[in-house]
This record gives sequence, structure tokens and C-alpha cells, in this order.
Amino acid sequence: MSLPGCLLDSSFLFQPRKPPMLLFDAHLDLAWNAVEWNRNLELPTSEIRLFEKHYTDIVPGDCTVSFPEMQRGNMGLCVATLLPRLHRKDKPLTFYQSRESTYAAGYGQLAYYRAMVRKGVLQDLPTGAAVREHCELWQKFLTGEVTDRPAIGYILSMEGASPILNPQQVDEWYDAGLRIVGPAHYGPNEYCHGTGSVGGLTADGQQLLREMDRVGLLLDATHLADQSFWEALDIFGGPVLASHHNCRSLVPSDRQLTDEQIQALIQRGAVIGAAFDNWMIKPGWVKYVTSPDSVSMNDIVTHIDHICQLAGNANHSGIGTDLDGGFGREQSPGDLDTIADVQRMSELLSQRGYSDADIEKIMWRNYVEFFERNLK
Ligand SMILES: [Zn+2]
Repeated sequence: MSLPGCLLDSSFLFQPRKPPMLLFDAHLDLAWNAVEWNRNLELPTSEIRLFEKHYTDIVPGDCTVSFPEMQRGNMGLCVATLLPRLHRKDKPLTFYQSRESTYAAGYGQLAYYRAMVRKGVLQDLPTGAAVREHCELWQKFLTGEVTDRPAIGYILSMEGASPILNPQQVDEWYDAGLRIVGPAHYGPNEYCHGTGSVGGLTADGQQLLREMDRVGLLLDATHLADQSFWEALDIFGGPVLASHHNCRSLVPSDRQLTDEQIQALIQRGAVIGAAFDNWMIKPGWVKYVTSPDSVSMNDIVTHIDHICQLAGNANHSGIGTDLDGGFGREQSPGDLDTIADVQRMSELLSQRGYSDADIEKIMWRNYVEFFERNLK
């Protein structure tokens, strides 16, 4: 026999609990960290930090990204890059001195991803169907339908196209698993102008974009200098994304997107990933001068909100942390210890008035659906 009062209590108790949120990160330089910084990403970040205490002049600050932390944050899918940086004149020995070296290093980083796939830590997602299946597997895990934790799925990208030795070589890279190319990084290269430089595409750069179109590679517009950005959008007819990019109207500097650029990306169906690098989040933030605590993840919500306001919906915003992009805790929001804390963005978006459906779009759905649609 049940009492009316108990009925009320039990219906409250048996309300289905919301499953944890899946996360998609559109920009991580995992292999660069593993191969060039010699980081064992299978270790907890606490152990990586301890080991690196002895090498503070070599590695960036306290590491925030490793596979256990990505798993703890339910970061089930990501875009993972090949990032062999070509030389910068002020640091001649820190970067590769020839394109052939970057080509070789690109394959070295690719070998790392393949080794992690063989080990079951990572899962390569080269097609839209593979992205959908992997997302469904994660949903089943998060709702308790399956008990084994899935691998972290990744779509292979290249940041800075120097390892593509000539435009026709895109076939070789596509066959190797590459699906996204960001032609630019910092400064000019053989194809285009990147962050901190001014200018358009070279003849080879124009050809590269046509070849990318032909083979089905997606364009990552992040890091393109303004003139190169507009020329690339004119020439390239395929799908475009901006993997780790904030808003110039909030933080002046060419590293951020103007409102006009954001509108153009929205028109093209792009998803723009919010970057978690402090100097791109708050104006005037200077490394080793300004405290990381002066920036919080709530400031990133402001960038996301700006893009959503321009779009009139939440269909074009995502997360592209770049948290392992050559910096650590010293340059990340003060309320973030590791990448697992990116989960807290849901709560912050909710406090800003975003609905559950829109939060889900920003945290993973926009990117998952973008790749489902656009990867052959
Ligand atoms: Zn970058």
C-alpha cells in the first residue's frame, strides 16, 4: 500500500538523470605534443607536469591535455592536427628549416596517431558515417547502454600546409587519411599569408585550394590573413570551418575574425570553434605579465554568444580549444585546470540563458553534423 505523500517523493526520485554531456574539440595538436615535445599523452596531466618541471626552458607551461583528461571530460571526438612548424626567423633552430623536413615530420606525427589507433586509445574517423557511428557509440556509453569507454575519435587535419610539397600532392595526403587543411599558420608560407602577416594567396595557394576541392578536403580558415581569407573563400567551393577562432570585435588583432568574416563563414555553413588561449579571449592580455586568473571560461561564452547573435541562432558555434597549442595553464583561463574542465562550459552557457538543445549544439552537435554532412 502506498501513501500519497510517498508517491510524490518517489516520482521525484525516479526522474531520469541527465546523462553527462559529450564534447567535441575542433582543434588539438596531439601528435605535435607527443612527438615534438616528447609528451606521453597516456599519462595523467599531473605526471606530465611533474616530469616537465625539470625542463621549464624547453616545454611550455603546465600541461592541460592528455588522453585520461580528455576521457574524464567526455571529449569523445576531436579534430587532431599534423603541425610541423616551418622556421620563424627570430627562432631559427626551434622550427624546421625546409618544407621537406616538415613533410617528413608530418608523416612522423601521422605515425603517432596510427600507433594510438592500434592501441585502441584513438579511433580515426575519415568519413561522415564513421563520425556518426562513433558519436552514437559515445551516446550509448554516456547513457549507460554500453559499459566500455570508447576510444577518442579524431578527424585528421593539417595546420599550415608546408608539408604538402606541391598542390597535386593532396591526393597522397588524402589517401594517408588527411581530411582538413588549414593552409596558414603564423606568418607567410608558400601558399598564403597567415597570422601576423599581410597579403593574399600565391599562385600555388590558389592551385592548392582547387586541388583540395577536387579531392574533397575541407578548408580550415583559421590563421588565414585577411586578404588570403577572402581570396580563399572566393576560390574554394567546398565546405569551410574555422577550427579555433574568436571575435575581433571583442579582441582586436588579425588573429581574430571580423564580424564580416563571421557572417561570410555563417553563409557558407561553417562552424566556428571557440579558442581557449587567453590572449585571444580578453583584449590586452600579455603572457607572463597578465595573470591567467584575469580570464575565465565565462569570457569565452561572450565570444560564442557574439557569433550566435550574428547568426541569429546557435548553429555555427562550437568548441576548438587549442589547449595544447604551445601553451599550458599559464595562458589558459584561470578557472581551467585541465581540458576536462571544458565540460563546465555547459553550465556557463546555461547561466547565459542558452537552452539545453542549443548547449548541446555548441558542445558537440554542430561539429558532428558538419562532418557527417561534409566528409565523403
Ligand atoms: Zn593555431
